[in-house]
Amino acid sequence: MSETPGAPRSFREAVVDLAAIRANVAALAAHVAPALSMAVVKADAYGHGAVPVARAALDGGADWLGAADVDEAIALRDAGITAPLLAWLHDPGAGFAPAIERDIDLGVSSLEQLHEIVRAAASVDRIAAVHLKIDTGLSRNGVAPSNWERVVGAAAELERHGRLRVRGVFSHLANASPAEDAAQLAAFERALDAASAAGLTPELRHLASTAAALRLPEARFDLVRLGIGIYGVPPYGDGTTAADLGLVPAMTLRGRVVAVRRIEAGTGASYGHAWRAEHATTLALVPLGYADGVPRQASNRAEVWLAGARRPVVGRIAMDQFLVDVGDAPVAVGDEVVLFGDPSSGAPSADDWADAADTIGYEIVTRIGARVPRRYVGGA
Ligand SMILES: *Cc1c(COP(=O)(O)O)cnc(C)c1O
Repeated sequence: MSETPGAPRSFREAVVDLAAIRANVAALAAHVAPALSMAVVKADAYGHGAVPVARAALDGGADWLGAADVDEAIALRDAGITAPLLAWLHDPGAGFAPAIERDIDLGVSSLEQLHEIVRAAASVDRIAAVHLKIDTGLSRNGVAPSNWERVVGAAAELERHGRLRVRGVFSHLANASPAEDAAQLAAFERALDAASAAGLTPELRHLASTAAALRLPEARFDLVRLGIGIYGVPPYGDGTTAADLGLVPAMTLRGRVVAVRRIEAGTGASYGHAWRAEHATTLALVPLGYADGVPRQASNRAEVWLAGARRPVVGRIAMDQFLVDVGDAPVAVGDEVVLFGDPSSGAPSADDWADAADTIGYEIVTRIGARVPRRYVGGA
């Protein structure tokens, strides 16, 4: 980390290092250049805090910001962020006019959305800028390939009449295998050809998120959409570390020991006595639980950093608290506990927690709950 966070201010907190965000964006942007970089700050910036992260990402050199839905994008604009901004996942009843008035580009996944956006733009006397999304194989949103010609035809017609601007064409990869990525890449190229045959000249063709931005140069096109990488969490789940990718984890989740108890051999701990002491030992109580996004699934599996070592979480993780077996180490109430952070400090990583909970690092950081205050370090 670029800055030592100091003593915890609260008995539970997520420290977000904005210098790490800036450095990660700068490193990724340099890696993918000349492609432009979009920092994806959906879901409150993967739990890190959308507005401070967006500002740090722009300082680090991001050209664009990405949000999932229009409300997230509007919140960024209304916080004073003027950078180019795209939102792509829409409520069927979404009113697009407030987004268009705020110069938010809109992803389009159907002919209906295209027409709704054009109507909304006309209602506020503006021309919407859209990015047409083709489903190249993820089978989620995006225009189905069988409808693509109709959609690009309609969009080109609207553009010729000055009622729409098609700024981008994009898609999203399933990251299923190199062969499937290659098939999606080929489908994307065909969709681009069809768009150009219809008369469209989108300036931003984009396909890659972090995983492909790093490892599949031919998927970079004009812009890459960088989510997990800017937070310093690896996208792969294959043991590749942040350091391997030249990235720094931005979030440290920590708290303070609130109770310490010496127990005898055979003593059970926490709900269901899912763990029992094999010999006399000391337990430290940590005031974070599944209400705070600490996965119960990681009970008896995860580790934390406490009193200068990694130590096991024992017994069931409860809603508000869990226990750590510290053996004979001299641990006291008030001592700092790090659940995850930068592994170069000795602490586990978010990926270590993901392994313990059979999930991915994305879910670990994104689900840190509202009860955990975020504290920002690393300056502006
Ligand atoms: C979330 C998202 C991204 C970012 O993906 P990462 O794997 O976090 O880099 C990019 N594009 C779309 C469409 C997304 O929904």
